[in-house]
Amino acid sequence: MVRGEIRWCQGYSEPNFGSDLAGLQTKADDYGDYFLVNGQKVWTSYADEADWMFALVRTDTEVGKHSGISLVLFDMTSPGVEVRPIKLISGTSQFSETFLDDVRVAKDQVVGDINNGWIVAKYLLTHERESIGGIGGVTGQRSLGAEAIEAVGLKAGRLDDEVLRSEIAAWEVDFRCHQLTTERVKDEIASFGVGNTSAMLKYSGTELNKRRHELSIALQGMTALEWNEASPSRTWLRSKGNSIEGGTSEVQLNIIAKRILGMG
Ligand SMILES: Cc1cc2nc3c(=O)[nH]c(=O)nc-3n(C[C@H](O)[C@H](O)[C@H](O)COP(=O)(O)OP(=O)(O)OC[C@H]3O[C@@H](n4cnc5c(N)ncnc54)[C@H](O)[C@@H]3O)c2cc1C
Repeated sequence: MVRGEIRWCQGYSEPNFGSDLAGLQTKADDYGDYFLVNGQKVWTSYADEADWMFALVRTDTEVGKHSGISLVLFDMTSPGVEVRPIKLISGTSQFSETFLDDVRVAKDQVVGDINNGWIVAKYLLTHERESIGGIGGVTGQRSLGAEAIEAVGLKAGRLDDEVLRSEIAAWEVDFRCHQLTTERVKDEIASFGVGNTSAMLKYSGTELNKRRHELSIALQGMTALEWNEASPSRTWLRSKGNSIEGGTSEVQLNIIAKRILGMG
Protein backbone atom coordinates (compact mmCIF):
# COMPACT_ATOMS: atom_id res chain seq x y z
CA MET A 1 0.00 0.00 0.00
CA VAL A 2 2.79 2.43 0.91
CA ARG A 3 4.44 1.83 -2.47
CA GLY A 4 1.12 2.59 -4.18
CA GLU A 5 0.92 -0.88 -5.68
CA ILE A 6 -2.38 -1.83 -4.06
CA ARG A 7 -5.30 0.51 -4.73
CA TRP A 8 -8.34 0.83 -2.51
CA CYS A 9 -11.83 2.15 -3.03
CA GLN A 10 -14.36 3.33 -0.49
CA GLY A 11 -17.73 1.57 -0.36
CA TYR A 12 -19.82 3.88 1.81
CA SER A 13 -22.55 5.60 -0.26
CA GLU A 14 -25.62 3.73 -1.49
CA PRO A 15 -28.39 4.86 -3.86
CA ASN A 16 -30.57 6.29 -1.06
CA PHE A 17 -27.95 6.73 1.63
CA GLY A 18 -25.30 9.39 1.05
CA SER A 19 -25.73 12.19 3.60
CA ASP A 20 -27.85 9.83 5.69
CA LEU A 21 -25.04 7.27 5.52
CA ALA A 22 -25.95 5.47 8.75
CA GLY A 23 -29.15 4.23 7.10
CA LEU A 24 -27.15 2.05 4.68
CA GLN A 25 -28.81 -1.23 3.65
CA THR A 26 -26.00 -3.42 2.26
CA LYS A 27 -26.30 -6.48 4.45
CA ALA A 28 -23.71 -8.92 5.77
CA ASP A 29 -25.22 -12.23 6.95
CA ASP A 30 -23.28 -14.21 9.53
CA TYR A 31 -22.14 -17.72 8.46
CA GLY A 32 -19.83 -18.53 11.37
CA ASP A 33 -16.31 -17.57 10.34
CA TYR A 34 -17.42 -15.49 7.34
CA PHE A 35 -20.13 -13.08 6.13
CA LEU A 36 -22.04 -13.10 2.85
CA VAL A 37 -22.48 -9.50 1.69
CA ASN A 38 -25.39 -8.39 -0.51
CA GLY A 39 -26.31 -4.88 -1.68
CA GLN A 40 -25.30 -1.94 -3.86
CA LYS A 41 -22.79 0.84 -3.44
CA VAL A 42 -22.70 3.93 -5.64
CA TRP A 43 -20.29 6.77 -6.54
CA THR A 44 -17.43 4.40 -5.66
CA SER A 45 -14.37 6.36 -6.87
CA TYR A 46 -11.95 4.25 -8.93
CA ALA A 47 -13.82 1.01 -8.17
CA ASP A 48 -12.92 -0.11 -11.69
CA GLU A 49 -9.19 0.26 -10.92
CA ALA A 50 -9.12 -0.71 -7.25
CA ASP A 51 -7.75 -3.99 -5.91
CA TRP A 52 -9.60 -3.85 -2.60
CA MET A 53 -12.65 -2.16 -1.13
CA PHE A 54 -13.25 -1.00 2.44
CA ALA A 55 -16.99 -1.03 2.86
CA LEU A 56 -19.65 -0.29 5.42
CA VAL A 57 -22.17 -3.10 5.81
CA ARG A 58 -25.09 -3.80 8.13
CA THR A 59 -24.32 -6.68 10.46
CA ASP A 60 -27.22 -6.17 12.89
CA THR A 61 -30.69 -5.03 11.86
CA GLU A 62 -32.19 -5.27 15.36
CA VAL A 63 -30.33 -2.33 16.93
CA GLY A 64 -30.25 1.45 16.26
CA LYS A 65 -28.95 2.33 12.79
CA HIS A 66 -25.53 3.57 13.96
CA SER A 67 -24.94 0.49 16.13
CA GLY A 68 -25.39 -2.34 13.61
CA ILE A 69 -22.70 -1.34 11.09
CA SER A 70 -19.30 -2.98 10.48
CA LEU A 71 -16.37 -1.95 8.29
CA VAL A 72 -15.14 -4.84 6.14
CA LEU A 73 -12.35 -5.30 3.59
CA PHE A 74 -12.61 -7.46 0.49
CA ASP A 75 -10.75 -8.18 -2.72
CA MET A 76 -12.45 -6.62 -5.76
CA THR A 77 -11.85 -9.84 -7.72
CA SER A 78 -14.01 -11.80 -5.24
CA PRO A 79 -16.89 -13.68 -6.88
CA GLY A 80 -20.10 -11.58 -6.72
CA VAL A 81 -18.45 -8.13 -7.12
CA GLU A 82 -19.64 -6.28 -10.23
CA VAL A 83 -18.46 -2.77 -11.15
CA ARG A 84 -20.28 -0.54 -13.64
CA PRO A 85 -18.51 2.80 -14.37
CA ILE A 86 -20.65 5.97 -14.40
CA LYS A 87 -19.82 8.52 -17.07
CA LEU A 88 -19.51 12.09 -15.81
CA ILE A 89 -20.30 15.47 -17.38
CA SER A 90 -16.55 16.14 -17.56
CA GLY A 91 -16.27 13.24 -20.02
CA THR A 92 -14.25 10.98 -17.74
CA SER A 93 -15.47 8.09 -15.64
CA GLN A 94 -14.08 8.50 -12.18
CA PHE A 95 -16.60 6.48 -10.26
CA SER A 96 -18.86 3.47 -10.51
CA GLU A 97 -21.86 1.62 -9.24
CA THR A 98 -20.73 -1.48 -7.35
CA PHE A 99 -23.04 -4.47 -7.01
CA LEU A 100 -22.39 -7.07 -4.31
CA ASP A 101 -24.02 -10.46 -4.67
CA ASP A 102 -23.15 -13.05 -1.99
CA VAL A 103 -19.60 -11.70 -1.61
CA ARG A 104 -17.77 -13.83 0.93
CA VAL A 105 -15.84 -11.86 3.56
CA ALA A 106 -13.86 -13.69 6.24
CA LYS A 107 -14.40 -12.35 9.74
CA ASP A 108 -10.72 -11.52 10.13
CA GLN A 109 -11.33 -8.88 7.43
CA VAL A 110 -13.48 -6.78 9.75
CA VAL A 111 -11.71 -3.57 10.88
CA GLY A 112 -12.27 -2.98 14.59
CA ASP A 113 -15.08 -4.83 16.32
CA ILE A 114 -18.16 -6.21 14.61
CA ASN A 115 -20.98 -3.62 14.87
CA ASN A 116 -18.46 -0.87 15.69
CA GLY A 117 -17.88 0.23 12.08
CA TRP A 118 -19.58 3.62 12.47
CA ILE A 119 -16.83 4.77 14.84
CA VAL A 120 -14.13 3.61 12.39
CA ALA A 121 -15.91 5.25 9.44
CA LYS A 122 -16.33 8.58 11.26
CA TYR A 123 -12.63 8.59 12.12
CA LEU A 124 -11.65 7.87 8.51
CA LEU A 125 -14.01 10.61 7.30
CA THR A 126 -12.26 13.24 9.42
CA HIS A 127 -9.00 12.39 7.60
CA GLU A 128 -10.73 12.38 4.21
CA ARG A 129 -12.29 15.79 4.88
CA GLU A 130 -9.02 17.32 5.98
CA SER A 131 -7.39 15.95 2.86
CA ILE A 132 -10.12 17.22 0.50
CA GLY A 133 -10.18 20.54 2.39
CA GLY A 134 -6.53 21.08 1.70
CA ILE A 135 -4.58 20.10 4.80
CA GLY A 136 -2.76 17.48 2.76
CA GLY A 137 -2.13 20.01 0.00
CA VAL A 138 -4.75 18.50 -2.32
CA THR A 139 -7.37 21.17 -2.80
CA GLY A 140 -7.65 24.91 -2.40
CA GLN A 141 -3.99 25.33 -1.54
CA ARG A 142 -2.89 26.99 -4.76
CA SER A 143 -3.07 30.76 -4.99
CA LEU A 144 -4.46 32.18 -8.21
CA GLY A 145 -1.41 34.37 -7.88
CA ALA A 146 -0.18 37.41 -9.74
CA GLU A 147 1.76 35.33 -12.24
CA ALA A 148 -1.18 33.19 -13.24
CA ILE A 149 -3.42 36.22 -13.46
CA GLU A 150 -0.98 38.03 -15.73
CA ALA A 151 -0.26 35.01 -17.90
CA VAL A 152 -3.88 34.19 -18.53
CA GLY A 153 -5.73 37.42 -17.83
CA LEU A 154 -3.64 39.84 -19.81
CA LYS A 155 -3.66 37.59 -22.85
CA ALA A 156 -7.41 37.55 -22.92
CA GLY A 157 -7.70 41.21 -21.86
CA ARG A 158 -9.93 40.11 -19.03
CA LEU A 159 -8.16 42.02 -16.28
CA ASP A 160 -9.70 45.27 -17.54
CA ASP A 161 -12.84 44.07 -15.83
CA GLU A 162 -12.96 45.82 -12.42
CA VAL A 163 -15.55 43.44 -10.98
CA LEU A 164 -13.40 40.45 -11.89
CA ARG A 165 -10.33 42.10 -10.36
CA SER A 166 -12.16 42.72 -7.07
CA GLU A 167 -13.47 39.12 -7.04
CA ILE A 168 -9.91 37.86 -7.45
CA ALA A 169 -8.71 40.11 -4.61
CA ALA A 170 -11.55 38.85 -2.36
CA TRP A 171 -10.64 35.26 -3.24
CA GLU A 172 -6.97 35.85 -2.36
CA VAL A 173 -7.95 37.27 1.06
CA ASP A 174 -10.26 34.33 1.80
CA PHE A 175 -7.60 31.93 0.58
CA ARG A 176 -5.05 33.46 2.96
CA CYS A 177 -7.53 33.08 5.84
CA HIS A 178 -8.05 29.43 4.89
CA GLN A 179 -4.29 28.83 4.81
CA LEU A 180 -3.81 30.43 8.24
CA THR A 181 -6.70 28.43 9.70
CA THR A 182 -5.21 25.28 8.21
CA GLU A 183 -1.90 26.05 9.95
CA ARG A 184 -3.73 26.54 13.26
CA VAL A 185 -5.63 23.26 12.83
CA LYS A 186 -2.37 21.43 12.05
CA ASP A 187 -0.99 22.63 15.38
CA GLU A 188 -4.18 21.56 17.16
CA ILE A 189 -4.02 18.11 15.54
CA ALA A 190 -0.45 17.67 16.77
CA SER A 191 -1.72 18.17 20.34
CA PHE A 192 -5.28 16.84 20.30
CA GLY A 193 -5.62 14.62 17.18
CA VAL A 194 -8.10 14.98 14.33
CA GLY A 195 -11.66 16.04 15.05
CA ASN A 196 -14.63 18.08 13.95
CA THR A 197 -12.47 20.92 12.64
CA SER A 198 -12.11 18.73 9.54
CA ALA A 199 -15.68 19.81 8.66
CA MET A 200 -14.58 23.46 8.77
CA LEU A 201 -11.60 22.88 6.47
CA LYS A 202 -13.62 20.69 4.13
CA TYR A 203 -16.32 23.36 3.79
CA SER A 204 -13.95 26.29 3.40
CA GLY A 205 -11.40 24.53 1.16
CA THR A 206 -13.89 23.08 -1.31
CA GLU A 207 -16.02 26.23 -1.61
CA LEU A 208 -12.77 28.16 -2.24
CA ASN A 209 -11.69 25.66 -4.85
CA LYS A 210 -14.99 26.00 -6.72
CA ARG A 211 -14.67 29.81 -6.68
CA ARG A 212 -11.07 29.50 -7.86
CA HIS A 213 -12.17 27.50 -10.90
CA GLU A 214 -15.02 29.93 -11.65
CA LEU A 215 -12.51 32.81 -11.60
CA SER A 216 -10.00 30.92 -13.65
CA ILE A 217 -12.64 30.30 -16.33
CA ALA A 218 -13.72 33.96 -16.21
CA LEU A 219 -10.10 35.07 -16.62
CA GLN A 220 -9.61 33.01 -19.73
CA GLY A 221 -12.74 34.25 -21.45
CA MET A 222 -14.00 32.37 -24.52
CA THR A 223 -10.87 30.20 -24.79
CA ALA A 224 -11.91 28.48 -21.55
CA LEU A 225 -14.87 26.96 -23.34
CA GLU A 226 -12.72 24.75 -25.54
CA TRP A 227 -13.49 21.06 -25.01
CA ASN A 228 -10.43 18.84 -25.07
CA GLU A 229 -8.53 16.66 -22.59
CA ALA A 230 -6.51 19.60 -21.20
CA SER A 231 -9.18 22.30 -21.32
CA PRO A 232 -9.93 24.15 -18.05
CA SER A 233 -13.64 23.55 -18.49
CA ARG A 234 -13.02 19.89 -17.55
CA THR A 235 -11.38 20.72 -14.21
CA TRP A 236 -14.00 23.44 -13.62
CA LEU A 237 -16.75 20.82 -13.95
CA ARG A 238 -14.83 18.36 -11.77
CA SER A 239 -14.46 21.00 -9.04
CA LYS A 240 -18.26 20.98 -8.60
CA GLY A 241 -17.95 17.52 -7.03
CA ASN A 242 -15.57 18.80 -4.33
CA SER A 243 -18.37 20.10 -2.13
CA ILE A 244 -20.26 16.78 -2.46
CA GLU A 245 -17.56 14.10 -2.06
CA GLY A 246 -16.67 13.19 1.52
CA GLY A 247 -19.96 14.77 2.71
CA THR A 248 -21.73 17.80 1.22
CA SER A 249 -21.19 21.41 2.27
CA GLU A 250 -24.61 21.43 3.96
CA VAL A 251 -23.64 18.36 6.01
CA GLN A 252 -20.35 20.05 7.01
CA LEU A 253 -22.31 23.15 8.10
CA ASN A 254 -24.56 20.91 10.22
CA ILE A 255 -21.47 19.39 11.89
CA ILE A 256 -19.95 22.84 12.49
CA ALA A 257 -23.24 24.08 14.01
CA LYS A 258 -23.74 21.05 16.26
CA ARG A 259 -20.25 19.88 17.18
CA ILE A 260 -18.17 23.08 17.09
CA LEU A 261 -20.65 25.87 17.87
CA GLY A 262 -22.78 23.66 20.16
CA MET A 263 -26.06 24.75 18.53
CA GLY A 264 -28.45 21.96 19.52
C1 LIG B 1 -16.54 13.20 -7.03
C2 LIG B 1 -17.23 12.30 -6.04
C3 LIG B 1 -16.57 11.18 -5.55
C4 LIG B 1 -17.20 10.34 -4.62
N1 LIG B 1 -16.53 9.21 -4.20
C5 LIG B 1 -17.16 8.37 -3.34
C6 LIG B 1 -16.50 7.14 -2.94
O1 LIG B 1 -15.37 6.84 -3.35
N2 LIG B 1 -17.16 6.32 -2.09
C7 LIG B 1 -18.40 6.60 -1.61
O2 LIG B 1 -18.91 5.81 -0.82
N3 LIG B 1 -19.06 7.74 -1.97
C8 LIG B 1 -18.47 8.62 -2.84
N4 LIG B 1 -19.11 9.77 -3.24
C9 LIG B 1 -20.49 9.99 -2.78
C10 LIG B 1 -20.64 11.13 -1.78
O3 LIG B 1 -20.11 10.77 -0.53
C11 LIG B 1 -22.14 11.46 -1.71
O4 LIG B 1 -22.54 11.92 -3.00
C12 LIG B 1 -22.45 12.52 -0.68
O5 LIG B 1 -22.24 12.02 0.63
C13 LIG B 1 -23.89 13.05 -0.79
O6 LIG B 1 -24.80 12.00 -0.79
P1 LIG B 1 -25.92 11.90 -1.94
O7 LIG B 1 -25.24 12.00 -3.26
O8 LIG B 1 -26.73 10.69 -1.65
O9 LIG B 1 -26.80 13.21 -1.78
P2 LIG B 1 -28.01 13.41 -0.77
O10 LIG B 1 -27.61 12.92 0.58
O11 LIG B 1 -29.25 12.85 -1.38
O12 LIG B 1 -28.09 14.99 -0.72
C14 LIG B 1 -28.83 15.75 -1.68
C15 LIG B 1 -28.83 17.20 -1.23
O13 LIG B 1 -29.54 17.32 0.04
C16 LIG B 1 -28.70 17.96 1.00
N5 LIG B 1 -28.91 17.36 2.32
C17 LIG B 1 -29.03 16.04 2.62
N6 LIG B 1 -29.19 15.86 3.94
C18 LIG B 1 -29.15 17.11 4.50
C19 LIG B 1 -29.26 17.59 5.83
N7 LIG B 1 -29.42 16.75 6.87
N8 LIG B 1 -29.16 18.93 6.05
C20 LIG B 1 -29.00 19.80 5.00
N9 LIG B 1 -28.91 19.39 3.70
C21 LIG B 1 -28.98 18.07 3.46
C22 LIG B 1 -27.28 17.70 0.54
O14 LIG B 1 -26.39 18.68 1.04
C23 LIG B 1 -27.43 17.76 -0.98
O15 LIG B 1 -27.39 19.11 -1.42
C24 LIG B 1 -18.52 10.63 -4.15
C25 LIG B 1 -19.17 11.78 -4.64
C26 LIG B 1 -18.55 12.60 -5.56
C27 LIG B 1 -19.28 13.81 -6.07
